[in-house]
Order: sequence, then C-alpha cells, then structure tokens
Amino acid sequence: MRFGARHGRSCLIGEGCYLDVQDTSAGEFSEDPMEVLERWSSFREWARSQDLAEGLPYQDRDLTCPVPAPGQIFAIGLNYRDHAVESSMEIPDNPMVFTKYPSSLTGPRGDIHLVPGSCDWEVEMVAVIGERARNVSEDDASQVLAGLTVGQDVSERELQLQGTNPQFSLGKSHRTFAPLGPCVVTLDEFDNPWDLGIRCELNNVVVQEARTSQLLNGVPALVSYLSGVCELRPGDLVFTGTPSGVGLGRTPPQYLDAGDVLVSTIDGIGSLVNQCV
Ligand code: ZN
Repeated sequence: MRFGARHGRSCLIGEGCYLDVQDTSAGEFSEDPMEVLERWSSFREWARSQDLAEGLPYQDRDLTCPVPAPGQIFAIGLNYRDHAVESSMEIPDNPMVFTKYPSSLTGPRGDIHLVPGSCDWEVEMVAVIGERARNVSEDDASQVLAGLTVGQDVSERELQLQGTNPQFSLGKSHRTFAPLGPCVVTLDEFDNPWDLGIRCELNNVVVQEARTSQLLNGVPALVSYLSGVCELRPGDLVFTGTPSGVGLGRTPPQYLDAGDVLVSTIDGIGSLVNQCV
C-alpha cells in the first residue's frame, strides 16, 4: 500500500491515480495524514479492501508531505562506511543520533530555501513509525513500522560542524531542509525492503548511489536502539543516514546553488524533485 497526501489530504496512491481517504471512507478515516497514522492498523485493514482502479488521476506536483507533523524526527549520522570515510569521521560504536526539527519538513516537490553558508545534499531512506512502542526487539521492529519513504537531509555544514561541540540538529533544520515523500510504502510492497537502490542526482548528474543493505545499522537495529530510550509514536520519522557522495566529501567541496535541482530516489518508493532557491 502506498499512502500519501494530495494537497494536504490523506490519500491512497496507485499508478497515476489516487483515492481521497476521508471521502472514500465516508469520514471513517481523517483527511489529516497524522490522524490516519494514529490508527494505522485499522487503516491498513480498510485500505486492503479499496479498489484503486476507481481512483482519480493526480499530478506528481499535487503530492504534499506525507507525514507533515511528526512528534519526533530521529536522524542517524555516519551510517554508511564510505560516508564516514569521506567525512573524515570515525564510525561510532552505537548509532549516532540527532534530530531534524519538524518545522524543517517540506513536500516531495517543495523548493529548498538555501541559507548563507555551505548547503549540502544527503539522500536517505526514512522509516515511518506506525505504532506506539518501547523496547522493541530487532525481530519485532517491522511490526511497529508504517512503511518507508524517501528523505533529503539537507545540511548547512558551517553551522553543523561549528566549534568543538557541533550543532548537527540546528545545521540540518532550516526551513525546507527536510523534503519527504512522495509516499509511505508498506514493507509488503518490496521483495526485500532492506536492500533497495538509493541515489541522488544533482542537475542530472548522479552524485550518490548505493544500496540500503549497506547501512551499518539497519532499520530494525535503529528501531530497537531508539525505542530502548524514547517511546516511538505513530508518525515519528527515522532518517537512516546517507551514503557517500555528498558535496562536503568532494575535492574541492561542492555546495548547492540557487537553480540547482536535486532528485532523490529509492527504487520501489519513488523520487523527490526539489529545486534550490
Ligand atoms: Zn543525514
């Protein structure tokens, strides 16, 4: 099942067509994607019986952020070996966790508003939580997930790496620095949800390309680790980390400029297309 938002309203998404959740369910499920995520297991049951062939056509630009107001966003640093190397940082013993504040979210076609400094790209797989959970084992982690989506962890490196106590969370939380979407895809849609092609193109040039099976800490391990500290709640997001190929790791470093177009893709989920302004 593919879940998203069209002009802010919950929808089920098929091949070029959609069903408005509130209208189709005669008000049983909300137009607000966050309220749908609160009732994820019953929503999944209902969605199973819907016929997307009866959907209406939509344009990609109609889709807005599928999880617009999460309570918590966890983000993981240095979770692909080659990216830790290009960042000249040591691979941490435990997942390195920071946050992107929810006010940084934007949609799959939203503009990225650059700020002064060194704005960089990081394509990431994002896990979306679908159940309230604490102390989840790795084996049970899939049960608490709503699904997977694509995220961009846009990062202003000067603030991120400032001083002896760097400001990862602030440097990655400017307005529109967290494009997300185009939809949340449930795990049963994939042959293997933990081995997906992931890439980022900048102005039609591939700058990042990897497979999510290369994550040092995969989604089940991250869900287990995080839920041992924080209660996970429906709609919470986990940005799982970026592969190598970011601008900071290039010689010379390369950063985003107004007019640049970033396309961030995960096979089986879809693409974000974000223009920098
Ligand atoms: Zn990142």
